[in-house]
Amino acid sequence: MNLRIPGPTPVPPSILEAMAREMINHRGPEFAALLREITDGLKRFFRTDNDLFVLTASGTGGLEAAVANTLSPGDPVLAISIGFFGERFAEIAQVYGAAVDRLNYADGEAADPEEVRRKLAERRYKAVLVTHNETSTGVTNDLEAIASVVRETDALLLVDGVSSVGSIRLQTDAWGCDVVASASQKGWMTPPGLAFVSVSQRAWVAHARARMPRYYFDFTMAKKYLERGQTPTTPALPVFFALAEALRQLGREGLDAVLARHTRVADHTRAGVRALGLRLLADERVASNTVTAVRLPEGVDWGRLDRLARERHGVVLAGAQGALAGKVFRIGHLGFVDERDIDGALAALREILPELGHQLPAASGARG
Ligand SMILES: *Cc1c(COP(=O)(O)O)cnc(C)c1O
Repeated sequence: MNLRIPGPTPVPPSILEAMAREMINHRGPEFAALLREITDGLKRFFRTDNDLFVLTASGTGGLEAAVANTLSPGDPVLAISIGFFGERFAEIAQVYGAAVDRLNYADGEAADPEEVRRKLAERRYKAVLVTHNETSTGVTNDLEAIASVVRETDALLLVDGVSSVGSIRLQTDAWGCDVVASASQKGWMTPPGLAFVSVSQRAWVAHARARMPRYYFDFTMAKKYLERGQTPTTPALPVFFALAEALRQLGREGLDAVLARHTRVADHTRAGVRALGLRLLADERVASNTVTAVRLPEGVDWGRLDRLARERHGVVLAGAQGALAGKVFRIGHLGFVDERDIDGALAALREILPELGHQLPAASGARG
């Protein structure tokens, strides 16, 4: 199967093999060494010297940890949302009792840093929540510019980097991001099960006074255990085994090369999609390097496209969430991916689309 969804992403055989081994004592020296190796490896990809915790959870757990550990009920929070995952982050803060103001953008748009600056001048916010790469719309925010605006204030910057860290340039420390969350099944060539969160000094200061309830994701507890080479509760060991091997492979390729590969594959995807006469949801200037959202042509049914791609071509595409369902489909290109994987998906589309009523441009056979 050519799994072209934005997570879980394909896992190379060598990494799958690394998982197929006996369990170890998670309170023993072998796990301590594994946890140290993984934590150090992740910090290099996060571009941070901050504390970093590996949580047994999906990415949403990382977002919840960011909120619950740094804020108190009633805290004014600015949630910048450009899609489904931005809304999820806002909802988490709301459920935990923050006073959430929203700065929402239409699907396909990125946030405007100048507008963020104006919002921040209106009220003394305790934190800003922002999605670096919005997986539901295939849009990447200019996090560097947003971070620099937030850093003009005292607000914490909590970043959903679930589908960006390790695939799209993000400099946790240089940009002043306070908590950045990612997850194993996105750009990390690893199965689902682990979330990663980095915690800045400013976030620790906020943490000391933060009164939102927390237990499983408590940073104080995570740090206390990490100092002994452990996690507070039983870790998802097989995913740790996989992640250690994935980080070795990504480390050999090198962060810059990994980022460049994602840029190249994303350009290839967008060019191929356009050559089929399809339109992208996002403007080229803000289009994501990890996922491409494509508008379904008039009259083309997503259910049929999905089924034909899977059954005839072994290509698994992603549908859309919320209001975009049935109007957009998505092609994931993060993690273990190169141009050939994309060519497989494009070839399937080229064959299926005419059958579903979309006429290909005359020259479309020439490329792709
Ligand atoms: C996948 C994703 C999430 C949610 O991750 P889960 O692992 O499903 O909890 C959150 N934010 C973004 C941007 C994502 O791509």
